[in-house]
Amino acid sequence: MCHDSSLFETSYRTTELTLLKLLGSRFVLSEETNNYYLSKLKGYEGECYLDSLLATLTSNSLILCDVLFEQNNTTFQIDTLLLAQKTIYLFEVKNLEGDYYIKNGDWFRKSTGKAITNPVHQLKRCETLLRSLLHSRNIKMEIEPYLVFTNPLFTLYHAPLDLCAYFPGQLNSLLKKLTQAPFDLNGSHQQLGQFLLSRHVYDSPYGRLPEYRYDDLQKGVTCRKCMSLNVTVTRYTTICNACGHTEQNTSSILHAAKDLKLLFPDRLLNVHALDHWCDHLYHRKVIQQVLRTNYNLIKKGKYSYYL
Ligand SMILES: [Zn+2]
Repeated sequence: MCHDSSLFETSYRTTELTLLKLLGSRFVLSEETNNYYLSKLKGYEGECYLDSLLATLTSNSLILCDVLFEQNNTTFQIDTLLLAQKTIYLFEVKNLEGDYYIKNGDWFRKSTGKAITNPVHQLKRCETLLRSLLHSRNIKMEIEPYLVFTNPLFTLYHAPLDLCAYFPGQLNSLLKKLTQAPFDLNGSHQQLGQFLLSRHVYDSPYGRLPEYRYDDLQKGVTCRKCMSLNVTVTRYTTICNACGHTEQNTSSILHAAKDLKLLFPDRLLNVHALDHWCDHLYHRKVIQQVLRTNYNLIKKGKYSYYL
């Protein structure tokens, strides 16, 4: 990434998205899971958009993305934290699309009239817990919390004037405001960043996935570009029949190996396993060469595997 500022991103959100994407290419996801995946993906895109804007701010800024904290026995996730000299900006990013309205403090989708999780409550909750986390370490920094709506197709009716929010057409003024904030960071800010990162709790994404078994997943290699399993393997390259994307066989095999390890961390990786996972599309010698080059062989006779 070509950011001037220091951007710390945990793999918290990306691992879950990658797993869902891989599963979706080899397995029919239920409608519920698919909707969950699409909404997570949309949220992620919104967060990346804001992060890319913030990263252009100043070479001195410190940005923490997608962190999960635990405070007072409660976990809370923060999309983006920007550390300035005296202030911590807390951003809750919403990539909502369509028309919404506020009535008596609650938020509704206009087309269905159904209530949605109140973003203001989410933001307040994060603010309170973050304050408590800082307080536990005797850190006195101001917190400025904001909702940031990133989707240009989003409209909110009946929004109160004092709503702590930036709408898509106001993102430039957000950047302008931040540009004017003092960003003279010193060692104590770096320490604060390190402290916050050290408090990030790892949350395994596997528990949130639908149940899946090796035998239920379609075998083969997926195109990196469109995730199709419909590929043709020639002597040196793997060609996607759906989008035409071409990849070196060795690269496709390596990706397949990584996918296998990510989806099934407990399965042993060896030539036999990878050959089966790739649906016997490649010469075993090439598979062996890829494993030898990229992994370490753990010798256990018949049960040798690569790590
Ligand atoms: Zn493709």
